[in-house]
Amino acid sequence: MRATLLVALLLPLLPALAGCVGPALLTDGSSVSMGDHRSGLLRHGTPLPFRGRGFIVPERWWLRHRNYGIEELVYALMRVAYHVERRYRGATVGFADLSPAGGGSTTEHGSHTSGRDADVIFYATDLNGHPLVPREMVAYDATGLALPATLGPETQPATPPRGPGLASGPPVPDAAAAAPVVGGASQRFDVRRNWALMRALLTDPRIEVQWLFINRDLARLLLDQARRAGEPERLLERAAALMHQPGDAGLHNDHFHLRIFCPPGDRELGCRDLGPPRWRDPAVESAAGAATPAAPLPLLLEELALLARRFPLM
Ligand SMILES: [Zn+2]
Repeated sequence: MRATLLVALLLPLLPALAGCVGPALLTDGSSVSMGDHRSGLLRHGTPLPFRGRGFIVPERWWLRHRNYGIEELVYALMRVAYHVERRYRGATVGFADLSPAGGGSTTEHGSHTSGRDADVIFYATDLNGHPLVPREMVAYDATGLALPATLGPETQPATPPRGPGLASGPPVPDAAAAAPVVGGASQRFDVRRNWALMRALLTDPRIEVQWLFINRDLARLLLDQARRAGEPERLLERAAALMHQPGDAGLHNDHFHLRIFCPPGDRELGCRDLGPPRWRDPAVESAAGAATPAAPLPLLLEELALLARRFPLM
């Protein structure tokens, strides 16, 4: 039934798709990550919506319009947020910078140039365990309690909106509403939902995670949670290997940074993985090459809506 519905929904789009980008779009997708994560570019980047089921792009970041990535990354983010929200109602994760529309370097990041990097704001709860909607990056101590307000590079006041495309975003707030709200010690790192997200990323058959840059104390909290939940040893081993606090790029105690490997199709078109040899999972490799399970229907509809926005029928 799903397949029939999908075909029915796609049919009206086909002429536009064929006219713009050719028939390959529906098989391989059209986004291409070019070069490496430090000095790369992004061709036909896909925009992450500013809001969706289980996630939000908080204002500071949607104002920047760095919400572009290769389709594999964008859809994976939507998929894992959906997955966690389905399991834990009300869970909302924050997505901060991905890449600019065409990729390339930015003043804020040494990477994020080729559509394969994303900064993710941790799930948080209040002190009674109720889920909070992330508005800012809030730093946590080794026990997962929010630190008193800290103004790092990511928590400077929001800059005024610039550039095209704002009409499609949320309403632009006035200056007072745009003032930064920085967490005090009134919220907690939500270890259960954050582990659920990591798990969803690590087990997603359509991407392969290269790194999860995260503070080592928070990584330890997540691994403890995974052990308590009885996760398989192999998953624990992989999570422990990929969660890493980089020596040269901040504490990563107020967000984590996801980088995915070049998709095989992009590799042939110039995508380059950099870095030391990493933990690779043969099971993931083979699953990525095999037929992959369908996304939940609401996600297919969201993916179609994205396609329709990118290639409006004229
Ligand atoms: Zn980052």
